[in-house]
Amino acid sequence: MADPVRPAFRVDALPRPLLERVWASGRDAAGNRVEVMVNEKEGSAPLRCCLREAAAGERVALIAHRPFCRPGPYAEVGPVFIHAEPCAGYADGDRYPEPFRHRRQVFRAYDDTGRQVYERHTLVEGGEAETAIARILEDPRVAFIHSRNVLAGCYMFTICRA
Ligand SMILES: [Zn+2]
Repeated sequence: MADPVRPAFRVDALPRPLLERVWASGRDAAGNRVEVMVNEKEGSAPLRCCLREAAAGERVALIAHRPFCRPGPYAEVGPVFIHAEPCAGYADGDRYPEPFRHRRQVFRAYDDTGRQVYERHTLVEGGEAETAIARILEDPRVAFIHSRNVLAGCYMFTICRA
């Protein structure tokens, strides 16, 4: 059934070709050897391949990731968890990832050159994500949004117009 109020945005997890390269080579894009570990407790390893929390006992990998399509001074590299082995990935790109709904996040806004649009950065409770996304994307300068962890600043996923 069509949802007439569904917001017009897309959520992107880590790109599949990048994940395939990491799984095949055992190295991340920065050249680091992939660090594989068993997740000890749910909630401590948000997976950027599937956009859900790793369960206790799941094998996860910590890699360096640069979530930008072009280089530049704002194109930071940071640590993210992914599954240690090939997984199904994230299929619900037309909606906010429910498994991350409980997380308070920083939505960081960027323009199409990859520069930050500072006045659109927003601290967001998960339950108000769609409202915040709509408000940020009203600004025509904003090309995409990063959802990032509040204290650590780690990248979670990208949101852009559908
Ligand atoms: Zn995964």
